[in-house]
Amino acid sequence: MVKLAILDVDGTITDSSRRIQESSITTIRKAQDNGKIICLVSGNVIPVMYALQIYIGIRHEVFAENGGVMYYQNRIEKFFEKDKTEKFLDYISGISSARGIFTNVWRYSSMAFEMDADDIEKVRSESDRWNLDITDSGFSWHVLNKGQNKGYALKKLMELHHLEKEDVLVVGDSKNDLSMFVEGVNRATVKNGDPVLKEVSDYISPMNNGEAIPDIFRKFSLI
Ligand code: CA
Repeated sequence: MVKLAILDVDGTITDSSRRIQESSITTIRKAQDNGKIICLVSGNVIPVMYALQIYIGIRHEVFAENGGVMYYQNRIEKFFEKDKTEKFLDYISGISSARGIFTNVWRYSSMAFEMDADDIEKVRSESDRWNLDITDSGFSWHVLNKGQNKGYALKKLMELHHLEKEDVLVVGDSKNDLSMFVEGVNRATVKNGDPVLKEVSDYISPMNNGEAIPDIFRKFSLI
């Protein structure tokens, strides 16, 4: 029985243009009223996750920066440093079309950027050389420390709540969710989810993006 659901934000509880889906808000609240633990894990920054937690009414932890930072009960816990990712972004900005995005001023453990598609391979090989990871959320690129990913957040949340894999549901729509789609965990994606997620999902909703949340929550008996 699922006790904890970990949800990606952009494209998972929102529509394709990032507007939050009203039905996903009411579904999350209903599941919480049923005693379920709902957590958000996003590539976005702490101030945004803090606001989502308050205004949706999420009662448990939220993770920002792809698992790098956690916010709960007026406390920010940082698991990775941003120094190296900042230096890397400076470097690639000089040798490619990569440019940082404005939310970087609020980042604690990583950097986000945009770049032209032609530069992806070049920047990826530089990230290997620097022993860093780059990942595409579908909305922006992120440079992350090794081991910093949504799978890290999954592990942290299982420890914090003393849960086993079978107690957990993960829901996502894009490649940067793959690290939390581990064997043994209940895995669900949306109709327009990335093929790599569909391949490892236990359930693919017939609905797109945030419209799928009520369907997925019913499927796993959270509501
Ligand atoms: Ca997403």
